[in-house]
Amino acid sequence: MDRHIRNIVIVGGGSAGWMTAAALGNALQKNCAITLIESEDIGTVGVGEATIPPILRFNQTLGIDEAAFVRATQASFKLGIQFVNWGKQDHSYFHPFGTFGRPFDLVNLHHYWWQAFQAGEATGLDDYCMAWSAAKRNRFAPPSPDPRHVLSTYDYAYHFDAGLYAAMLRTYAEAKGIKRREGRVVDVTLDSQSGFVRSVTLQDGQVIDGELFIDCSGFRGLLIEGALKTGYENWQHWLPCDRALAVPCASTSNFTPYTRSTAHQAGWQWRIPLQHRTGNGHVYASQFISDDEAARVLLENLDAEPLGDPKPLAFTTGRRRQFWNKNVVAIGLSSGFMEPLESTSLYLIQSGIAKLLTLFPDSTFDPALSTEFNRITLTEFERIRDFIILHYKLTTRDDSPLWRYCAHMDVPDSLKDSLDLFKRYGKIPSKELDLFGMHSWLAVHIGQLHVPERVDPLAAYRETDGAGWLARFKGLIEKAAESLPTHQAYIDQAGMNAAARS
Ligand code: FAD
Repeated sequence: MDRHIRNIVIVGGGSAGWMTAAALGNALQKNCAITLIESEDIGTVGVGEATIPPILRFNQTLGIDEAAFVRATQASFKLGIQFVNWGKQDHSYFHPFGTFGRPFDLVNLHHYWWQAFQAGEATGLDDYCMAWSAAKRNRFAPPSPDPRHVLSTYDYAYHFDAGLYAAMLRTYAEAKGIKRREGRVVDVTLDSQSGFVRSVTLQDGQVIDGELFIDCSGFRGLLIEGALKTGYENWQHWLPCDRALAVPCASTSNFTPYTRSTAHQAGWQWRIPLQHRTGNGHVYASQFISDDEAARVLLENLDAEPLGDPKPLAFTTGRRRQFWNKNVVAIGLSSGFMEPLESTSLYLIQSGIAKLLTLFPDSTFDPALSTEFNRITLTEFERIRDFIILHYKLTTRDDSPLWRYCAHMDVPDSLKDSLDLFKRYGKIPSKELDLFGMHSWLAVHIGQLHVPERVDPLAAYRETDGAGWLARFKGLIEKAAESLPTHQAYIDQAGMNAAARS
């Protein structure tokens, strides 16, 4: 008996919808009709400009040429995120895509660094990071493929215009045979026996049937919540920001190959440089600041004139109780939301698509598949949640109600043990499915001024000259950074300048 699913419906045409359509169109080469429904009247969230390195893999899997992609989406390069005023005011640190130092001893570098720093023989941790050495000079080139070279110790991602990216993926998906239907879904029909979604009805009366439905309808979760009432777990007590105002401004000559996140009194502000403009947004907790005041703070902290009025967005941080329920898989904002502090939302879309392809169902919808999908997704969500909470919990600021609240709030048990292990021994637990590895956690612990009481006991048995190694490494990365082109020059030289080709 043929159990193949032959009819897939994607509801929603934001980044999630078109990323899913492109990836399914690429993977399911025959025997399946895929329809994407979107409503121009409703529109998309339209932000989502900063990414993390796995996005390269997503584009590569689709066979998208990097130079064409950078030009089409007005993209720039990203070596990490600079956090300003987070640990305390007038202080900053860098969360790099890459490592601090490089492996050189049985004991991890940061233990030697902490000993040397306390003895006055080393400077700040960021000074031993290749990605920051390049980023702070506004320099960029892709990493060296030679693992012996210090220029191989970093990775990169992009900043891009999310609307242009969705448009690019739409062209790609339509060329793969995906059918787009314009219209607002006004009704969802469930099977009376199984409770599965059988069809959706558009405002003009058209009924669109499907076997597998992908809910990419954004925060409203039209199918996963509206029709299936799956439920939502609220995480706002750990992550109190619930609103954002987004506004682009004109570009300036400060074309940084990194995102900047600046903490304010009741939230934080992102700065994301693209080729044609700089994206900005203020993410804030509405219980601690009014919308008008939040807008004032945002507009007072732009590089240049705003290019429009701030766009308001409201959200509830948390996650859907099931990400795959019956024959509906939620991908994108319909699955849950965590603030964009570490640029993880587009990654979670990518990861959701990859898991769906790995656990692709047939028409029996064996619950073993959805159970595994939900287990992995929950773990991924919780790991990212804990990493974002870390930034808030470790603040030493007490100048406003938000920071006082965060410094004293309770945190999930899964984060408590990480905090404790780092405090006592400077160690970072290795946890299943943690998107952020040791160097990311280290950057935030140290950057937020959370330092260990003692170093790895193993260091006492080593003859390694940690301080000497660190000094040599620092010289090496400074020299290597000076050899790189500026961020703008790299884009121009690589034929990626959108203005030059338009
Ligand atoms: P949406 O963009 O909301 O799209 C929903 C789609 O569903 C639309 O096409 C809409 O028309 C359609 N739809 C809804 N209802 C109906 C209906 N009844 N009938 C027909 N169609 C319907 N992510 C990052 O990775 N990096 C970032 O820097 C980043 N910054 C962010 C900043 C903020 C303030 C916010 C709120 C989010 C940010 N994100 C970021 C997240 C990112 O924007 C989203 O993950 C991404 O845009 C995906 O959204 P989506 O496609 O799920 O939903």
